[in-house]
Amino acid sequence: MRRNRIGTKAEFLWAWDVEDISQMNGPLAVQEYIQELIRADSSNIKQIITPPPEVDIHVWQYEHLRQFILELNLLVTQLKGLCTAQTCPKMKATEDWLYLCAAHKKAQECSAIDYMIHNLDQSTSILTNIKTYPSRVSINPQNATNNFAFIVRRLYRLFSHTYFNHKEIFEDFENEMFLCTRFTEFALKFDLMSPKLITIPKEALKL
Ligand SMILES: [Zn+2]
Ligand SMILES: [Zn+2]
Repeated sequence: MRRNRIGTKAEFLWAWDVEDISQMNGPLAVQEYIQELIRADSSNIKQIITPPPEVDIHVWQYEHLRQFILELNLLVTQLKGLCTAQTCPKMKATEDWLYLCAAHKKAQECSAIDYMIHNLDQSTSILTNIKTYPSRVSINPQNATNNFAFIVRRLYRLFSHTYFNHKEIFEDFENEMFLCTRFTEFALKFDLMSPKLITIPKEALKL
């Protein structure tokens, strides 16, 4: 049975085999499939980001982005109390870059933690806008490409701020979740971000 029984030991939680996506159906099948792959082995990035032939490529990207947002919220939770308006009054990665927060009518200088929260919220509202994305089983390609690249570029900054300013948190999180590695591979695979914008060194990733 694909359910965690009450009293299951932690190591056996979600310990069922990954289901064959062609046997899964319903609007959440792709999301469930991605989550199962991550639970089964979060280090198996190639498998996690490779779309099965029967899944629409834009639906695949869309569901991955939603998943990244879920997991990035966990990263921000780890940063709370350590990344504050006092420690990081501006959103920076390295010294040379200052990011203005575009989540407002007029772009403004938000503190790093606010920038991260505002951009996660903005990305969520773009992806859950029922007018642009009325369905989770088919996506108008025009609504995919531009929005997805926009979101990916902004979310990547959460990783770069964390890496360059809170390295310990970055490393702990990456060791467990492989999230930045997955995100980077995903962005490059689907051409959602220029390799020039990748600022975190390869050595920090789990390739
Ligand atoms: Zn910070
Ligand atoms: Zn803001």
